[in-house]
Amino acid sequence: MKALKPKKPSLIEFTRKYSNDEEACYDFFWNAKHPDGFVCEKCGCTHYRKITRHRVTECKECGHQEYLFAGTIFQDNKLPLYKLLLGILLFFTSNKGISAVEMCSHLDVNYKTASLLCRKCRILMADDNASYVLNSMFYESDVIYIGAKSKEPGHRGMGTTKQPFLTVLSTGEENRYPKYIRLVPVAVDSGENISRYIPSFIMLSKDRVLNTDGKTTYNILKDRITVNNCKIDYDEDDHRLYWLNTIVGNIQNHITGIYHGESRRDLPLFLAEQEFRFNNRNEGKALIDNIRIYFNQLFPCPRRLIKSVLDKALPLFAPVCV
Ligand SMILES: [Zn+2]
Repeated sequence: MKALKPKKPSLIEFTRKYSNDEEACYDFFWNAKHPDGFVCEKCGCTHYRKITRHRVTECKECGHQEYLFAGTIFQDNKLPLYKLLLGILLFFTSNKGISAVEMCSHLDVNYKTASLLCRKCRILMADDNASYVLNSMFYESDVIYIGAKSKEPGHRGMGTTKQPFLTVLSTGEENRYPKYIRLVPVAVDSGENISRYIPSFIMLSKDRVLNTDGKTTYNILKDRITVNNCKIDYDEDDHRLYWLNTIVGNIQNHITGIYHGESRRDLPLFLAEQEFRFNNRNEGKALIDNIRIYFNQLFPCPRRLIKSVLDKALPLFAPVCV
C-alpha cells in the first residue's frame, strides 16, 4: 500500500482562524518577527504596545515606533494582511506550483501584485534551499534541458531555446527514490560548472558514489568522490538514474505547464521553487511554522531590486544564442 504523505495545513482551519481577523493576521507576522519577544531597537526596552490599526509596535520607554514589516522581505507590502497571509499559505502548500495568473484570481488582486508576491515566496524558498548540503552515501547527477522562453534584450523574437540545468540528488540506497535534490541553471554542460556547483551541493568523500550517465565531465571530481559514469542502457529495467529522470521529468512538466508565459530570467527562481517543494514534501503541517522562520530571515526585496538581480544573474546561466 502506498504510504500517505503527512497532511498539509488545512485551508478550513486557516480561514477559520485568520479570515476577517486583522489582529490574528497581525499576530502571525508579529510573532514571526519577534520569536523571542519585542526589544526596542533604539533603547533596548522590552515594554511595548501594539497599534494593530497602523501596523506598528510602540516602545513604552522612548516612544519609538517600529513598522510590522520594516526590514523584512515584505517591507513594501500594500496588501491587506489576510490576503498576504493567504497568498503565502497557498503558494507554500501547493504541490506543483501556483502561477501569478492563478494568484490574481485567488486573492482578487492585479497581475503585478500577484507576480511580486509569487516571486517573493520563491525567493524565500531559494534562501531556505541554500542552506542544504546533501549528505548521503549515494548521489545521482546529470545535466538536463528545459525549454525556456527568451524575450530578454539581445534575443530576437519570442523563440524557445533549450536551457541546461544541473541536477544532483541523494538516495538512501543505490538507485532508489531520492531523499533530496538540488537544481541550478548553467550556461553550458561543462566540467567547470560541475566542479563549481557539486562540491557546494553534496558532501564528498571517496567512499561515496556519484552516479552519472557516461559523462566524462564528472571526472573532474574523481579525486574527491567515486564517480560511476558507465553508459546507461535506458531499455533495461531498474536502470541507473531511473528516479532522477522521473523526478526531473515531473519538474520539467510543472515548470513548462504552469509558467509557460514567463521568461528565462525567472528560471533560477522556478527551479528553486521546485527544489523546495520536493525537499519539503513531507513537512506537512509544520510548513506553517517554517513560514514564520523564513519570513524573518530576509531583507527587503523591492520589485526593482529583484529584477535587477535576476538580470545581472542571467549571463551566468543563459546559453549564448548565435
Ligand atoms: Zn525604545
